Formats: sequence, C-alpha cells, structure tokens
Amino acid sequence: AAAAKPAELSAAKLEITKTTKPKTPLPHNELVFGRSFSDHMIVVEWDQQTGWSTPKITPYGKLQLDPSCTVFHYGVECFEGMKAYKDKAGKIRLFRPDMNMARLNRSALRLAMPSFDQKELTEIIKKFVKLEEKWIPQEKGYSLYLRPTMIATQPSLGVGPSSRAMLFVIASPVGPYFKSGFTAVSLLAQSSYLRAWPGGTGDAKVGGNYAPTIMPQVEANKKGYQQILWLFGPNDELTEVGTMNCFVYWVNEQGEKELVTPPLDGTILPGVTRDSILGLTRKWGEFKVSERKLTMAEIVKASNEKRLLEMFGAGTACIVSPIKAIHYQDKDLVVPLDPANPTAQAGPLTKRINETILGIQYGEIPSEWSVVA
Ligand code: PMP
Repeated sequence: AAAAKPAELSAAKLEITKTTKPKTPLPHNELVFGRSFSDHMIVVEWDQQTGWSTPKITPYGKLQLDPSCTVFHYGVECFEGMKAYKDKAGKIRLFRPDMNMARLNRSALRLAMPSFDQKELTEIIKKFVKLEEKWIPQEKGYSLYLRPTMIATQPSLGVGPSSRAMLFVIASPVGPYFKSGFTAVSLLAQSSYLRAWPGGTGDAKVGGNYAPTIMPQVEANKKGYQQILWLFGPNDELTEVGTMNCFVYWVNEQGEKELVTPPLDGTILPGVTRDSILGLTRKWGEFKVSERKLTMAEIVKASNEKRLLEMFGAGTACIVSPIKAIHYQDKDLVVPLDPANPTAQAGPLTKRINETILGIQYGEIPSEWSVVA
C-alpha cells in the first residue's frame, strides 16, 4: 500500500487549551519591547513522514526539547516579526500578514525546513490574536508583537535536513518605538564586519544572520552610535541600517527629487515596511522612486552639494527611524532632518510616511493591507 501523504497544516483542526492562570498585562506605559508575553502560544509540530500535526493554542510555557536537536547546534531557526493592532472600534487588525507568511516560508526553505500553507497559518494567528485580545493595547502606536518561529527539532548531531520541526508563535505587548515623538539616530558606517554577502542568507530571516551582528552593535554603542549602517563591497554600498531597510531621499545628479532604497539582490531582507513605502510613494507619484545600489561616495557628494534631503531606516518595530548623522571614514556626515524646523527630529517625508502607514495599521485610512482578524 502507498504511504499516506504527509498532512498539510490545517486551521480547521486547531485545538485550544486555555490557561487556568491568566496574567494581567502591564500598564501600557510600562511595556519594554519583547520582555512580557501573553497568556498563550501557538505550537504545531512537523514530521517528515506524517507532515503537520494538529495545531494547538496552549498556555504560554516552556518547551521541552532534546539537547541534541539540530536547532541548538547549527542554528537551524527562522522567524518573523509582525503586529496585531486594535482600532478605535475595538477591531483587531493585522498588517499585510500574507507578506510575513510568505517570507517565513522562504526562510524555512532556505534552511531545508518544511513549508506550510500560508492561509492556514494566517487563520490560526487570527484565532490566536482574538483569544489574546486583552493583550493588545488600544492606544495608538501600541500593539501586540507576534513572533512566529520555526526550529529544527530532529534529535541528531548530523549536519543535514531535519526530519522534524516545530513552528510556534508567541506574543508580546509593545509600545511605540518612539514614545515621545521621533528621536533621530546617529549611525556608524561599518565595512569591516558584514551583515550579508552575495550567496549568503541576507534575504532570509534566519537567526544565523543576527547572532554575529550583536558584538559589532555593542562596539558601535560604546562609540556613541545607536545603529550600524551596514556597507558592502569595494564601493561601500549602503545595504541596511541595524535591523531595518535603508532609504535615502535626495535631489539626484539629474536634479530630480528621488527616494532610493537598495535593490533586493539577495543581500537585503525584503522588508514588509520597505515594500509598503515603495508602494505608497509610487502611488503618490510626487517624486521618482528607485530601487538601486547606493554608494557612500554618492551620499558624501550629495551631502557636500546640499542635495541630501532625508534618510531613514524602515521596519515593523519603528515603521521609520530618522537618521541625523553617519560616521564614515573618520568624519561625521550630517544628515538633514527638517530644515524648516530646527528642533524637529524627522523630516517631512519621513513623518508623512509614518503617519500614513500608522493610519492604515489602525484602520483609519482604508486599505486592503489592513486585515481584520
Ligand atoms: N532588515 C532586517 C535585517 C530586519 O531584521 C528587518 C525586520 N524584520 C527589516 C529589515 C525590516 O523588515 P520588516 O519591514 O518586514 O519588519
């Protein structure tokens, strides 16, 4: 007889076990990113032979894993970062969850871990955020950060594809990245340590990309810079800012206003925020929008010629993070914020993008990007 086909991930099979010890969320102004967690979690296991097991929502708690599991030795792990928002009417919303599900599948495939039906995981996550409703702060800018994660759980020290995996989702209530308005950051341009390289995994959201960045980040902090501007190649191409995509708004050499971000050449994480900013600004049609390589020489030249208008990082945690300075080749290059307002911590385009995306996330600006749970 033919072996049974491995089972697909199925939201219809979801089993929910509620906690008997519900916790009380911290007051929203006491939240620290990623430190407190909601009452429950999603867990589903995969086995090469049998496929995806019954998805479960269980009380938040410890995992029990064999110390020989692949994840502990070779870092076979990938993850996502997304948020659930509560709008003024109390409706729970996700922002472009299909993008996070697709990226998690791509990251898992890169690590020879299993793929799953994206719609099914989105359905499970919708049920989860509804169950965790009390953990979603309603104040604007506040949200429930979701961390879908896949780990390789075959108990084996062989370096090979894992015959078992676990997918889990935990949730942490979070406040806005900038609590009292924007704070622009100073960057240390880094070309000695690399975040990503051609043929590497820079375009996947795998844990292995992040561990080696922590020590350089500590060094940058010691020198007084908040984030690293990750450069690449003999021409010092700009790639990403910390764990954010990088945007430059300038007047280009042709005299046109242009918003530029590096192209998805395999070394850049395809950010959901990045894609949203490109989509919005192309729709506005008010200036040129380009995905192309940018070098530090171009930035220095634009700065000298007073053509540099604004720079910002972009990601789920902050939406946009304005940049005020870059330390490069022993010099501090000043990046303009808002020339019309000397005390402003963000430029007009940076602010407008932030307000638009925030409005969509909280359902105040109608958009198919905002998905009601
Ligand atoms: N680059 C890196 C390296 C990241 O970790 C993130 C955060 N996921 C981003 C960019 C921004 O991606 P997103 O807009 O999807 O949060």
